Amino acid sequence: MTDTRAKIIRHARVLDGSRRRADPADVLIVGDAIAELGPPGLAAPADAVVIDASHMLLHPGLINAHTHGHGNLSKGMGDRWTLELLLAAAPWTSGHRTLEDKYLSTYVGAIEMLLKGCTACYDLTVEFPLPTPEGLEACGRAYRDAGMRAVLAPMVAELSFFEAIPGLIDAMPEAVQADLARLRMAPVDATLGAMRRTLKDWAFDRDVIRPAIAPTIPHHCSDAFMRACAALARDHGAGLHTHVQESKPQVMVGLKRYGKTPTAHLQDLGLLGPDFTIGHGVWLDADDMRRLGDHGASVAHNPGSNMRLGSGLADVRGMLERKVNVGIGTDGAGSSDNLNMYEAMRLASLVSKAQGPDTDRWLTTGEVLSAATEGSARALGFGDRIGRIGPGCKADIVMLDLTCVNWLPFNDAVNQMVHTEDSAAVRSVMVGGRLVVEDRRVVGVDMAALARRCEESRARLEQATLPNRQLFERVETVVNTFCPGLARMPYHIDRFGGGHHGNEHAAWRRLPPFGD
Ligand SMILES: [Zn+2]
Repeated sequence: MTDTRAKIIRHARVLDGSRRRADPADVLIVGDAIAELGPPGLAAPADAVVIDASHMLLHPGLINAHTHGHGNLSKGMGDRWTLELLLAAAPWTSGHRTLEDKYLSTYVGAIEMLLKGCTACYDLTVEFPLPTPEGLEACGRAYRDAGMRAVLAPMVAELSFFEAIPGLIDAMPEAVQADLARLRMAPVDATLGAMRRTLKDWAFDRDVIRPAIAPTIPHHCSDAFMRACAALARDHGAGLHTHVQESKPQVMVGLKRYGKTPTAHLQDLGLLGPDFTIGHGVWLDADDMRRLGDHGASVAHNPGSNMRLGSGLADVRGMLERKVNVGIGTDGAGSSDNLNMYEAMRLASLVSKAQGPDTDRWLTTGEVLSAATEGSARALGFGDRIGRIGPGCKADIVMLDLTCVNWLPFNDAVNQMVHTEDSAAVRSVMVGGRLVVEDRRVVGVDMAALARRCEESRARLEQATLPNRQLFERVETVVNTFCPGLARMPYHIDRFGGGHHGNEHAAWRRLPPFGD
């Protein structure tokens, strides 16, 4: 994916987040990596391609620690949906996908992320009823064609959303129960076999597109299945990523099923480690955070989705205090409606500030920027090879136009990156030394043709998923009564002292029968 000639970027200002400076510097790129960073006039090979970056601010490509490639064809389909309503709607919003749809959905997301200054992502993608080598190949090809770096993790489960919440199916009318039966996931052996084949014959350069495994939500899986996923990931040097304690109903189901928090249970299963990332973690208590920090695990913080689905406001200061590695994500377009990492950074900052007047607990813009670059890089398993502009790092670089109104005037590089920039200033984007966005356009992409393909898919899927939409409309009220019932149970997180109060098991038994 790289031009063989060296490249030298001249006349730029280069963001150094840790020093909060953006001094004039030249950047020499050889192959897919940064060879040298130095003062203006840096020596370069005679045949090096010169890139003039006058009036530009260079920053390391932002890294989206949690998204869902399959969600990009369903942006804007929901409004007042909790996480549980979103999951109940999934057979409608993400169902009946052809191979072309899988490619297209992933590709559109990659294009959006590149145009908005993001050069790598952790994509938890889903195929129903099980992942296929062809489907994952289509998703990987989408990132390769777009020229973006990605970790591609098939989301897998044994139980459907409806089966995974104790009592939910029983609360449904009988006729609906029969229809829900056709949403069963594939048998575990078939799912594990498909993943094993995919990992063994991985079709992509792992430096660019890495595989991982994403057991969707722990209580959608048996312990044996979670352990098998972990073993498979370990055998193939792949990461594990799962949604943990995202919503309060997830904690309540975990307490009922495990007698402890899902994080405590995952620790008992031996799953926590440096290759382990949890999505969201809104409902982690202090002990959960300590467990994750002690094992070197990561949290992908998705503030936009957490607010859009009413999941809550995560305590990132608490995570950082307990040495959890924190990355920042947008979540899928189904729950955040865009994949704008500048917006995700701004929201991460504002969410920390919205939780109380103690400014020591607020995130600084420097901490937010570090999470969206170096923190996310670690969560993706790329270590320190991405997320920084420095010698030896991959040349994943965003060039912001400092004549854009967001930078008039230029007061503070880090504060303006996090609080002011919204992607309007993105001029050029380089991934692995190759310019994939030039002058605000994705190189080689005909947006009008892409729009036609998207509309064809949208129209076909609208017809194909109509029965699933109608099924959702029949279950919507039940889900929206049952699950908020779980969310209203007494459960209080003590974020400072650890542990939680309230008798959760008694609370579960006190859950009013459905319909009250
Ligand atoms: Zn997610």
